[in-house]
Amino acid sequence: MNPLPGRLVLLGHPVAHSLSPIFQAAALRAAGIPLHYEAIDVRPDDLAGVLLELRDQRAAGNVTLPHKPRVAEACDEITPEVLRSRAVNCFTVAADGRLIGHNTDVGGFHALASRMLGDRPHGLRVALLGAGGAATAVLTAIERWPGCTVALHNRTLDRAAAVAARFPDLVAVASSAAEACENADVVVNGTSVGLYDDTHPAPLDILPAGAVVLDLVYRPEETAWVRSARARGHSALDGLAMLVEQGALAFEFWFGVEAPREAMWHAVNQRREESRTG
Ligand code: NAP
Repeated sequence: MNPLPGRLVLLGHPVAHSLSPIFQAAALRAAGIPLHYEAIDVRPDDLAGVLLELRDQRAAGNVTLPHKPRVAEACDEITPEVLRSRAVNCFTVAADGRLIGHNTDVGGFHALASRMLGDRPHGLRVALLGAGGAATAVLTAIERWPGCTVALHNRTLDRAAAVAARFPDLVAVASSAAEACENADVVVNGTSVGLYDDTHPAPLDILPAGAVVLDLVYRPEETAWVRSARARGHSALDGLAMLVEQGALAFEFWFGVEAPREAMWHAVNQRREESRTG
């Protein structure tokens, strides 16, 4: 096991809605690790100062919106996943104070997709909606799947073009969601549409019959898009499995031991059950 960090934190703005403290606390308990996982709301102007403190404290932790790209820039050492995605969602501080950044959203998305597409997805036409940090983590994962292509649509087309330019062998920009979804085997929502209400990121009638639907968004209950897609006969999953797996991979990065995934799933399922029963 790695030496324990001085502190274990989640940096975001806002962070109150995050499920990570719930399942990371369960993981720490199950593994008998005497640390508290603290969610800290850090305003963008305060990030540099907070990172300095965390280096001094030999901290480790997670990073969420909107800090992932800036933490990636602040790191002294990054993994190949960060190099491609330009975003850090978890970090450690080495004994000499170096900040080391990793992106476990990439592995988290692979785990979510594997539930529907098998362990080694290949030869798939993927429609990806969104061009933010989550979408680039998705592209970093799909880049490792042989023979796949991605049609990328984003509300702000310039942003889609900029992301596509970073993945030229994989991605073509689509000017509408309908164009992206044409002939798709898999449709991925990498936008934040549906996070706070029941809005669909794309109308269901543009999805080819049989397309697998993956929504990166997760809420206390399943997203409306996933529920509606399933009702129309699509195989569909929301972002919960990605969330838990990115957290499990982060746990393994911090501590160097296998994450207690069962305890983590138990905690999130219990939370879902509580929200179902009010
Ligand atoms: P981000 O960098 O802020 O990007 C947000 C994306 O959503 C952009 O492409 C943006 O388009 C698009 N968008 C926002 N509002 C929209 C609207 N009303 N109509 C159309 N497009 C809209 O955020 P992110 O980090 O990529 O995160 C995206 C989502 O993924 C979030 O909901 C987050 O919770 C989820 N996520 C889940 C996991 C997981 O573990 N399950 C991990 C990471 C992220 P513009 O470029 O046009 O603004």
